[in-house]
Amino acid sequence: MTSSATSRTNLLGLPRPALEAFVAQLGSKPFRARQLMNWIYKRGEASFENMTDLAKEFRPRLSEHAQVCVPDIVTLQRSADGTCKWTLRADASQAFEMVFIPEPDRGTLCISSQVGCALDCSFCATAQQGFNRNLSTAEIVGQVWLAGRELADAHGTGPHGADRLVTNVVLMGMGEPLANFRNVVPAMRILLDDFGFDLSRRRVTLSTSGLVPQIYKLAAEINVALAVSLHAPNDELRSELVPINRKHPIAELLEACWHYLDEQNGRSVTFEYVMLDGVNDSPAQARALSSLLKGHPAKVNLIPFNPFPGTRYKRSPLRVIQRFRDELIQRGVLATIRRTRGDDIDAACGQLAGRVIDRTTVRLGDKVIGVAVHP
Ligand code: SAH
Repeated sequence: MTSSATSRTNLLGLPRPALEAFVAQLGSKPFRARQLMNWIYKRGEASFENMTDLAKEFRPRLSEHAQVCVPDIVTLQRSADGTCKWTLRADASQAFEMVFIPEPDRGTLCISSQVGCALDCSFCATAQQGFNRNLSTAEIVGQVWLAGRELADAHGTGPHGADRLVTNVVLMGMGEPLANFRNVVPAMRILLDDFGFDLSRRRVTLSTSGLVPQIYKLAAEINVALAVSLHAPNDELRSELVPINRKHPIAELLEACWHYLDEQNGRSVTFEYVMLDGVNDSPAQARALSSLLKGHPAKVNLIPFNPFPGTRYKRSPLRVIQRFRDELIQRGVLATIRRTRGDDIDAACGQLAGRVIDRTTVRLGDKVIGVAVHP
């Protein structure tokens, strides 16, 4: 271990066993790891000097070898409806975004898992940006830490204690969380850990476009609520909207979802369904969707399409969305309409774009010659 500032270990994002090992390496007792987590996650403290119940001689050792390092905030925008969007620095030229959505009975933080996205869903602004890299566990956890601190500063409350403002976390920002499995799972462990953010498993939701093998892997690793971006009732249309469907068609995807619930003892899977005018919003399509889901523990969340520059899609009219919902409910499938929040600051579902330098498309002159494979 060297003492230069750049090689100090970032304690943010270290799961408890790794933090215990680190503390032991510095010659301290494992229970110090729990104290440290308490300071970092519950109290939002980043300076070891202020962690007053740590042994006096331990604090300078920590300052020498460790740090609590969160992403820098580039901009903060506030919507007329109270929704906040932060743009966070990924590096000198790139950025990713997180969104806080206040409601009377809860506060939901929507966090990103990647800089951009490689999945190319035709109706999503993030897809237009291409993909650059996975966020680290510290960058994922750092979003929750930062939001807690920022909101506490603004409201004069504690960052993550009983009066915390972030009560729910959804991985529904930029990126496909299951394509960054290695960093996302430890981040979720810290969200759930009693000594971490201590969120209940029903208040942490991972949303995926349908990476089937990773859904099975997730079922064996961690227990959080699952949301799946379905968007179409048949493979032909879904493959057009969500291209990963060509690899993992609807029947396989649904089987993985029911397996996930069995393993997790979960209540239901939420299926997201973006309402695109004249594309996937007819009563017949609602009936086809109900045949797929009827009798299963499923909830459908209809998302009015949020437009972005250059898109060819339009939002379905409200009466069409309501009719679609009613068709589902009449056939015994639970369905709700997601209220659009923060669209005046481009913070609504599918509008997060950040600043991404695409590295997935390998170009030679003007000709696309291939797609780079990324971890
Ligand atoms: N990649 C993950 C996480 C993104 S979650 C996933 O696909 O699930 C964001 C949700 O918003 C997804 O259901 C996504 O399909 C949906 N979405 C994307 N673009 C949208 C848009 N322009 N309007 C409304 N919803 C959109």
